[in-house]
Amino acid sequence: MPADGLATRVDKEALKRKYAEERAKRLRPDGNAQYIELKDQWASYLEDPHLPVQPRDPKTDHVTFAFVGGGFAGLVTGARLKEAGITDYRIIEKGGDFGGTWYWNRYPGAQCDTASMIYMPLLEETGHMPTEKYAHGPEILEHCRRIGRQYELYDNTLFHTEVESLVWDDAASVWVISTNRGDRFTAQYVGLGTGPLHVPKLPGIPGIDRFQGKSFHTSRWDWSYTGGDDQGAPMDGLKDKRVAIIGTGATAVQIVPHLAKAAGTLYVCQRTPSSIDVRNNEPIDPDWFEGIATPGWQKRWLESFTANQTMGEEVEDLVKDGWTELSRRIRAKVSELPRDQMTPENMMAAYEDSDFEKMEEIRQRVDTIVADQDTAQKLKAWYRQLCKRPCFHDAYLQAFNEPGTVLLDTDGQGVEEITETGIVVAGQHYEVDCIVYASGFEVGTPFERRNGFDPVGRNGVSLSEYWADGMRTLHGLNVHGFPNAFLVQASQAANFISNYPHNLTEAGTTIATILTEAEKQRAKVIEADKAAEDAWVGIIAKNAGMMIGGPDCTPGYYNNEGQPMDERARLAAGYPSGPVAFFKYIDKWRTAGDFKGLNFTS
Ligand code: NDP
Repeated sequence: MPADGLATRVDKEALKRKYAEERAKRLRPDGNAQYIELKDQWASYLEDPHLPVQPRDPKTDHVTFAFVGGGFAGLVTGARLKEAGITDYRIIEKGGDFGGTWYWNRYPGAQCDTASMIYMPLLEETGHMPTEKYAHGPEILEHCRRIGRQYELYDNTLFHTEVESLVWDDAASVWVISTNRGDRFTAQYVGLGTGPLHVPKLPGIPGIDRFQGKSFHTSRWDWSYTGGDDQGAPMDGLKDKRVAIIGTGATAVQIVPHLAKAAGTLYVCQRTPSSIDVRNNEPIDPDWFEGIATPGWQKRWLESFTANQTMGEEVEDLVKDGWTELSRRIRAKVSELPRDQMTPENMMAAYEDSDFEKMEEIRQRVDTIVADQDTAQKLKAWYRQLCKRPCFHDAYLQAFNEPGTVLLDTDGQGVEEITETGIVVAGQHYEVDCIVYASGFEVGTPFERRNGFDPVGRNGVSLSEYWADGMRTLHGLNVHGFPNAFLVQASQAANFISNYPHNLTEAGTTIATILTEAEKQRAKVIEADKAAEDAWVGIIAKNAGMMIGGPDCTPGYYNNEGQPMDERARLAAGYPSGPVAFFKYIDKWRTAGDFKGLNFTS
């Protein structure tokens, strides 16, 4: 559909009113408090369905570097440190193997939603060619294991282990680490890379504790109940079952096509529809891959994607997918403005026009796929595309044409009640055998709640105390008062959420560079300078309050569930000039040699 044709038919004012109406329906005063934290009676929802816990003796030794988290963050940091000659590295991981997200999330259809060529870290170093443009979960999990094997990270890792306390011992200049497995060991350096979305949550639906049937969260898929496996074997166990899936976010979008095929009846409980654009997944051709995989290829691909996706600068688009198309269309719309009308207001209006057109196309796509017109109408997303994680799928909408699949739209209100035998939507009771909670993960809850420990730095000050008024870091990586500790995450750094691993590989490289310098200087302690940290937070604060997609967005985890942002949430922002500028800045900082803002002492 040519954009021009659509543009003339989009009634922008009517659309804005519709967006505001839909937002108002979904808005609720309890924000993040609407969700149930998985502790006490809910703790069993966190149990590991994949691997049994192996007995082992507690550790009481010393390591050079201890890293909390065995997902991409811990793996890439370990790899970069090994490359720099630092081999005494220990990962502490709550799962039974490496993989993080990919260890836990083994639901049917799990797949990366940014291209494998940039999503899967260290492809060049490991020599792995992804088999598909968007690889499926088992391949990504195996890649994590590959990194673990290649960099010999398995030898010293503590699996099925959770850190309970992390305390800086100033006299000895080491971190003291205690775990739920009785370990109490020391480390010269620590890294924290527990991930942005690793703590599952349940919806606080009245009566949820009464349900007598089977239920589980998507991140703990129970294959023993559903039958089948994550390699694609059919879920025979659901043949005669009535299954409800609660939630229609990025996870549910990948699962629903599989449940629709397997279950006797599938109820898809929707509060806010996701936007579903074309996926166009395809196998990667080994001949093509051999041609492009010349030295430095993955860095070029990463830089191309980041530049194209964030409109950082004009660079050839190597990835060419829905993410970069989004930005290309905005750029094209803005460039249609006559030179003398290139004001910030006009540019924002052009961006808005481009968004209206794109979303209109996505809504029209629903009509072309979903046969039942009432269902199609309810599957349409009425908000700007970046208000929620944009989804791309070529079988999700089609699933609603399966005879056993029923969309239970809650008109923004959520499931009303859960009973002993089923769910209530719009006053009607539906009996079900199984409820799958695709209700997402904690975002915006305090660091110590999500991680189960609160690092204690110099003078007994905990991180939550130090961050009482919001996050404070240098480059998102180092914190004054928390020497020799590194945060491997994206806030107060690039904050590049459409390809999160890019943040992690950069952080891994920065840590390895800093530690190499520390060895050179024979320094025992590295710490962010207070003035430098304040200056950095000052830069970040310029961006603070910017919500992805804007303040008129439908509520969700992107925007603090539609609640006003307090100072804590406001400072969890990115570098104001964007990811490309941040990655350039940090590369220059790493190579300048003076490590401005960090103090090295022996
Ligand atoms: P989300 O938080 O995106 O979705 C949770 C869903 O549960 C929403 O649809 C939400 O509705 C719904 N919900 C919550 N409470 C209720 C209720 N009371 N009644 C009915 N519905 C309810 O979680 P996901 O696990 O889907 O995705 C989280 C993130 O994980 C994604 O945004 C993405 O970043 C990442 N992800 C990445 C993938 C990849 O391939 N790389 C794949 C899957 C996920 P509402 O929208 O109204 O809040």
